[in-house]
Order: sequence, then structure tokens, then C-alpha cells
Amino acid sequence: MQVKVASSRGFCFGVNDAIKIANEAVEKRGKGQVVSLGPVIHNRQVVSQLEEAGLDQSDDLETIEPAKTILIRSHGAFPGVFAEAKRRGHEIIDATCVLVKHAQDVVKQLHEEGYHVVMIGDRDHPEVRGVIGYAPKVTVIDENTDLAKALPHRGRLGIVAQTTHSPEHVADMIARILRRPYIEAKIVNTSCLEVKRRQDAAVALCEEVEVMFVLGGLHSANTRQMAQLCEGRGCPTFHIETWEQFSPDMVNGKQIAGVAAGASTPESVIKEFVRNLEAI
Ligand code: SF4
Repeated sequence: MQVKVASSRGFCFGVNDAIKIANEAVEKRGKGQVVSLGPVIHNRQVVSQLEEAGLDQSDDLETIEPAKTILIRSHGAFPGVFAEAKRRGHEIIDATCVLVKHAQDVVKQLHEEGYHVVMIGDRDHPEVRGVIGYAPKVTVIDENTDLAKALPHRGRLGIVAQTTHSPEHVADMIARILRRPYIEAKIVNTSCLEVKRRQDAAVALCEEVEVMFVLGGLHSANTRQMAQLCEGRGCPTFHIETWEQFSPDMVNGKQIAGVAAGASTPESVIKEFVRNLEAI
């Protein structure tokens, strides 16, 4: 089978940094001495490798012995988590991506400037759950939100977005907001260009292939959006994590396949997938 690979794909600098910080922390403090609060990134293969290297993981601070070091994952954390970890006596290592940190700072600043802070995002995503803690009140909105009910009538809005949301989606949401009579809307662009580059490359590849494979964690927001964008181009698309989930009927009658990958997908997973697909 002929296989074309997206020109931009796989690990972004934020993911690379988080993995490096996690590995160095374990090397320095020893196996089982560092606990990540939730998965470091949204990729099961990478998380398993880190676990094998000696990184523990827990979702609950209460269950972690105070002597252990806490690793804050790339998605960041609610400020109260840092305070509570400190109070319990933990050493904290912060692997929050610099772009997520920027979104946290912007939210704080918008609140200080008197804006009603609005975040376009998925309220259950760990990044959003962390960012909204940087101002006393942040309204999270998505395409299903009733803006008339959620946002203050004729208010002054300060708007940010989840870093991994596509600029197209953010632009649609902002257009919806601006159709309503708010006095002021200050928009700060918090979208991640690393995500956009990978999504653009995947969408461009859709024009050249008969079927697309988008590789990456099923919980990874940027990978899920990439798959949706490819589907939106009318290209049959499969979002899968590794070669193990491939089945031959996915390429039945097809000659050319495209492979793209989200920002948390390791190059080794992409290479293995391409090698096996080419062999068909
Ligand atoms: S996708 Fe962007 S925001 Fe997310 S970790 Fe990577 S660089 Fe940071």
C-alpha cells in the first residue's frame, strides 16, 4: 500500500519537555519517589514507559505520602492543588507547558483588568480545569452553551481558549459571541501553533489520500480534533492509538493511505504503523 505521512506530526515541545522533566525527576529521586497527578500526557504508550522507568501516578493528592515528590503534568493544575501539595509537605516539580502557563497568566490578568473571563473549551479537560482556577470566576463555554444565559447581559468579556482547540473552532465561537450585544470583548489568542501546524498538515494530506489514519491517545483533545477536521474534509478517517487497533477492512479497496499524528504521539508509534501499512 502507498502511504503518505503528514509533514508535521507527533511530539510538540510541551510534551517533549514534560517527558524530559519526568524522566530527570525519577532519575534524581529514585523509582517510586515521584508521583504524577494524573497522566503526564494523553498517550498511554508514553505513560506506560514512564511507569516502567519508575514514575508513579495518582489522581488523588490525599493518597500520596508526603515524602514523595509531586509532578504537575503538562496540562497544569488548579492553583489550590499546588497550595495543598505544599501544605502536605510535598516537593513539587512543575511540568506545565509554557503555553498553558501563558493561558493561566492571561486569565488572571483579564480578571484583574475587570473583565468577565470566558474560556472556550471543554470543561472536563484537565487543562481547562486548571486554568479556570486562576481567576475567581471563569465561564467555560462550548458549542452547546446558551450564551444568553451563561454570559452577563452587555458585559465586558475577556476571552481565551483551550490551547489545543483549533483556530477554526475558536473563530466560530467568537463569531457567536460577537453577535450578542456585549459592551466589550477582549480576545487573547491562547491557541497553540504546534497543534495548528499538525492539524493543517493532516488536513492538507486528506487531499492526496483515500483514507486517513490519525494516531494518538483517544483522550487527546488535539488528536480528536485532528480526526474531526479530516472527517470534515470528507476523507474516511480512523482515530486509533497504535497498529494493534488496525484492521484490514479499514483499507479495503484503497490504494493510498495517509498517516497523521497528534502532539502527544511518539515517533516510534508512527514509524511502526507506517512500516506495517506499507507492507500490506
Ligand atoms: S500541544 Fe501546545 S499547549 Fe499542548 S503541550 Fe504541546 S506545545 Fe503545549
